[in-house]
Amino acid sequence: MFTEAARTVNEAEAFVITAGAGMGVDSGLPDFRGDHGFWQVYPPYARLGLSFVECANPEHFTRDPAFGWGFYGHRTNLYRNTIPHAGFHIIRRWIERNSADYFVVTSNVDGQFQKAGFDDNRIAEVHGSIHWLQCQTPCSSNIWFNNEVIPVNAITMRARRIPHCPDCGEVSRPNILMFGDWSWLPDRTRIQEHRLDNFLVNNADRRIAVIEMGAGSAIPTIRAASERLGWNLMNATVIRINPREPDIQAPHISMPCGALEGLQKIDALL
Ligand SMILES: [Zn+2]
Repeated sequence: MFTEAARTVNEAEAFVITAGAGMGVDSGLPDFRGDHGFWQVYPPYARLGLSFVECANPEHFTRDPAFGWGFYGHRTNLYRNTIPHAGFHIIRRWIERNSADYFVVTSNVDGQFQKAGFDDNRIAEVHGSIHWLQCQTPCSSNIWFNNEVIPVNAITMRARRIPHCPDCGEVSRPNILMFGDWSWLPDRTRIQEHRLDNFLVNNADRRIAVIEMGAGSAIPTIRAASERLGWNLMNATVIRINPREPDIQAPHISMPCGALEGLQKIDALL
């Protein structure tokens, strides 16, 4: 299976990188698997009996902004301080070596691909990004870069400072698609997806390696996207790297390991 994966990478004329929460694990980021996984990372929410789904809800920004920004401010700071693991650089090296075109599709809101040097114009963040803000109302379709400093009390998980909308003064919120979210502005993501469509048209005749990492079936957006690419494109092979749910139908390739380990194993055979 590693040999086949290495051959697929070797022969790729274009890469589509699809990544879910498991991609960040090797950088030390939590992937919030189940309530207990979430509470281990955030004990204050265990005391309050609040799940990830309940915390990741836009209504907090209206009802109790210090709570809403406590959760998202903490994550903003965490992602800003995270150094992308070596796997990101391995992929960049493959792209350069093959002189290949590429596109990244991720459900992660953490901005780690940009941080690792991937081109912002070749990334689709299907659930938005924590590094961009919008008005919580929203009063307009404005989406702006998140330059805010958001200190959070680690005991109470409440924000000491609340970012506001520069246009109307209301509380702002991350431009992330949350649970039960009717006010998310999709425009930035739609523009990215339009670039992805163009990329797929331009590369339709090329041999494409779809490298999927850490995408689980609980929120199956990324898995479904990889499979669609694998079925719809004539010359695409999906390499699914996942320690718990690696299954995918042949001729696509299943690698039961973590993202960094899988990438290193392929890399060693090139
Ligand atoms: Zn506003």
